[in-house]
Amino acid sequence: MGNQVNDLLGRPLRDLRISVTDRCNFRCTYCMPSEIFGEKYHFLNREEVLSYEEIKRLTEIFIHLGVRKVRITGGEPLVRRDIDKLIAQLSNIEEIEDLTLTTNGYLLAEQVEKLQKAGLRRITVSLDSLDEDIFAKMNGKGYKPDVVLNGIKAAEDLGLPVKVNAVIERGVNDNGVLDLVKYFKGSGHILRFIEFMDVGNVNGWARDQVVPSKELCESINKIFPIEPVDANYVGEVAERWKFLDGDGEIGFISSITQPFCQSCTRARLSPEGFFFTCLFANSGIDLKTPLRAGESNTELLTRIRNIWENRTDRYSELRNSPNSPTAGQRKIEMFQIGG
Ligand code: SAM
Ligand code: SF4
Ligand code: SF4
Repeated sequence: MGNQVNDLLGRPLRDLRISVTDRCNFRCTYCMPSEIFGEKYHFLNREEVLSYEEIKRLTEIFIHLGVRKVRITGGEPLVRRDIDKLIAQLSNIEEIEDLTLTTNGYLLAEQVEKLQKAGLRRITVSLDSLDEDIFAKMNGKGYKPDVVLNGIKAAEDLGLPVKVNAVIERGVNDNGVLDLVKYFKGSGHILRFIEFMDVGNVNGWARDQVVPSKELCESINKIFPIEPVDANYVGEVAERWKFLDGDGEIGFISSITQPFCQSCTRARLSPEGFFFTCLFANSGIDLKTPLRAGESNTELLTRIRNIWENRTDRYSELRNSPNSPTAGQRKIEMFQIGG
C-alpha cells in the first residue's frame, strides 16, 4: 500500500511521536507554566481525543510510509488511563523497531511493571535537578525529585534501560549539572542535557536563558573527562560523549546552538489527531475528521503522503532569520504536541 516517502529536502519519514494527552500533573515553567502566570489552560474533552484503536490505525498507516520508531509522549502519558493497553497494541506491530515513552516519572514507580509487561522495552524520564527546591520550582507543583528517582529505580529493578532528560536553563538549574552527572555516571542510565527551546508561546523563552551545550560539555569535561562518540544512526538527535574512565556516556540535545533539521525524520500526532511536521509548527493537519468520517486507509495514507512530500520545515535553522515562514506566528505548545 505504501512505501518510503521523502520530503522536499530529501528527508524520509522514520519517526512518529504520539502525544496521547494534553493534560499533565506537572506545571514545568519551561513548558506549561502554572495558572498563576496568567495562562488558563483549556484541555480537550474525552471525545475529542483519539481512542487507542484510532491511534493504532493511524500508526499502521504511518508505518506503511516508512515509520520504524514510535515514541509515546504528551502532556504526561502516564496520566492517560490504561496507557499500557496502547503500548500492548503497538508492541504487537512487527515493523516497529523501537517503541518508547517519555514521562516526567511521577507515576512511573506504580506503572512501570505493567508498561514492561505490555511490551515497553525502554523509557525516557525527565529530571531537571536533584536539588529539592529547584526541582520543586521547576515542576511548578512543589514535588521533590525522590518521586522521580524512585520511578527510575523501579525501571532499573526490572532491567528496563532508562534515558534521563534534563532541560537546562541559565540561572535556574545550571549550577546542578555536575550533581546530575555525578549521580547518573556509572548507573547504566544515559543522561542527556537539552537546551531550553523556544517551543510554544507561554514559557517566556529568551535566548540568554539558553546554556549552549558546548559550555556544559566543557565544564563537565573539566571534572569528568569525556570524549565524543559516533552517532548510533543517521539522524540521532543527541550528540553522544563517553566518560574516559569507562563509566558510560552522556548526551547533548542542542536544538538552539546546533540545529539538526537536515536529518529530521520526525512526524508528530497530537491527542486530537492533528498531524504536525515540525515541533515549532503553528498548525497541523486534521486526520481525525476524515478518519471518523469513514475514509479508507488508502485515502488517509494518500493525505499523509502528500503532506510529507511537500514538507520543507526547518524552523531551528531559520530561527533567527526574518525569512522564517513561521516568524512571529503563534506556535503549538509542547504539552499539546509532545517532545
Ligand atoms: N511529560 C513528559 C515529560 O516531561 O517527560 C513528556 C512530554 S514533555 C513535553 C517531553 C520533553 O520535552 C521533556 O523531556 C521536557 O523536559 C521537554 N521540554 C518541554 N518543554 C521544553 C522546552 N521549552 N525546551 C526544551 N525541552 C522541553
Ligand atoms: Fe508536563 Fe512534561 Fe510539560 Fe513538564 S515537560 S509540564 S511534565 S508535559
Ligand atoms: Fe525537525 Fe522542526 Fe526540530 Fe527542525 S525544528 S529538527 S524540522 S522538528
